[in-house]
Amino acid sequence: MREIEHLISGSLTKGDASRKADIYNPSTGAVQAQVWLGEASDVDTAVAAARAAQVEWGATNPQRRARVMFKFKELLEANMDELAALLSAEHGKVIADSKGDIQRGLEVIEFACGIPHLMKGEYSEGAGPGIDIYSMRQPLGVVAGITPFNFPAMIPMWMFGVAIACGNGFILKPSEKDPSVPVRLAELMLEAGAPEGLLNVVQGDKVVVDAILTHPDIKAVSFVGSSDIAHYVYLTGTANGKRVQAMGGAKNHGIILPDADMDQVIADFSGAAYGSAGERCMALPVAVPVGQDTADEFVARMSDEIGKLKVGVSSDDTAHFGPVVSAAHRAKIESYIEMGVNDGADLVVDGRGLQLQGHEDGFFIGPSLFDHVKADMQSYQEEIFGPVLQVVRADTLEQAARLPSEHQYGNGVAIFTRNGLAAREFASKVNVGMVGVNVPIPVPVAYHTFGGWKRSAFGDVNQHGPEGIRFYTKVKTVTQRWPSGDVTDQSFIIPTMD
Ligand code: NAD
Repeated sequence: MREIEHLISGSLTKGDASRKADIYNPSTGAVQAQVWLGEASDVDTAVAAARAAQVEWGATNPQRRARVMFKFKELLEANMDELAALLSAEHGKVIADSKGDIQRGLEVIEFACGIPHLMKGEYSEGAGPGIDIYSMRQPLGVVAGITPFNFPAMIPMWMFGVAIACGNGFILKPSEKDPSVPVRLAELMLEAGAPEGLLNVVQGDKVVVDAILTHPDIKAVSFVGSSDIAHYVYLTGTANGKRVQAMGGAKNHGIILPDADMDQVIADFSGAAYGSAGERCMALPVAVPVGQDTADEFVARMSDEIGKLKVGVSSDDTAHFGPVVSAAHRAKIESYIEMGVNDGADLVVDGRGLQLQGHEDGFFIGPSLFDHVKADMQSYQEEIFGPVLQVVRADTLEQAARLPSEHQYGNGVAIFTRNGLAAREFASKVNVGMVGVNVPIPVPVAYHTFGGWKRSAFGDVNQHGPEGIRFYTKVKTVTQRWPSGDVTDQSFIIPTMD
């Protein structure tokens, strides 16, 4: 059986691991590999390697660091097919969607190629008599990223792409459900010219996470995953003196006004609610039609549309989406569907019990649609993270807008309308971090910044874009005066520039 190892100091190794976890192929349900689960001592080894490599890397001029990122981008493009096949085989998403996962990460690498410009400091000439002030951004040293299963290429690249371009060494702890692509990414970084030990992948579970959160030489931790773990990572990391950004779960709402382009709305919701089997933090699992006519039309047309969706194995390029990541995750999704029924919501389309001929053991679940969901139902209040769309009917825009604003999560939200003023007001006032106006999945491009609000993100600084540069650097400000021969008076008061 294939074994997936750490990549430390430029070499594959099982290190001190003695425990293993199974890696499934979600399309067949079969165990296809095993990953070694690291120990705290493996984190120690990786951090020592990163510290050693970072000293020279941090002092390397930024255009040389950018050249490595350029080369890495080219290697991602050259290896796109192999990476996408590997990703789909462990995650279950269809190949085209895996390519999207890699492409969105690649775009962060393109952003990181601009590092000489992005790290420029500021300069104030003549801030006082003969005094100039300048500021510079310097790398933190060794930093770490802990990533979820649902974007095994994009999210690691959000983190190490920016951190390494800024001059840091990096420890990546990927999800133990689909760890192969992160290792391939680290191998491609080596091929691109990154020094050995600069980017290390340590496989594992909570043991490795806790070792990262308490390691004295790790200066910052970026986390993406579910909210309870994100909160734990935030509290533990900051208590240990680290800078922490910890992105959590989501429950994104799409508000449909009566004047919306309903053809577009149906197309947008089918892709955004069911694409990647709903396993996206920017999926759109809640529809809020405003007015009974809008709701009736939406539910009728959406159920027709669901009839046209094809669920298939991840290598089937005619499938709209593939299996979910594990049998346990499918059981969790099914339990939320059961809960919704018990709470009194109308299950218009039931995706449970789907079996694919020849792939009976795969982790498949079909698309489900609920109508008449209410805000006090538990299945609405929590994240399902599966192909389940819940319709919550509203009478007015005000009533509709309160739903995402008052929800515990605040990652993304969308409004569908032709009314610019209503959309503008909504975007300005809604208590959510990322807003789409007639855009169902408003994931900002790499040179903007990604991050939700409320229980969707703990910490203040977002992923990639200018905030990513801020997260992985610290500012130093120099106030300088050169001797002119004019001795200034001795002073015992706080210096002013007058
Ligand atoms: P998860 O929280 O189970 O795992 C995320 C990481 O935390 C993994 O590396 C895992 O090994 C580690 N981990 C798991 N349990 C732990 C524990 N008890 N202590 C310490 N570490 C632990 O999340 P997942 O199932 O891999 O990913 C899905 C979740 O991620 C969803 O909630 C989704 O919304 C969220 N997500 C959020 C964003 C965002 O940007 N807000 C993006 C993608 C995914």
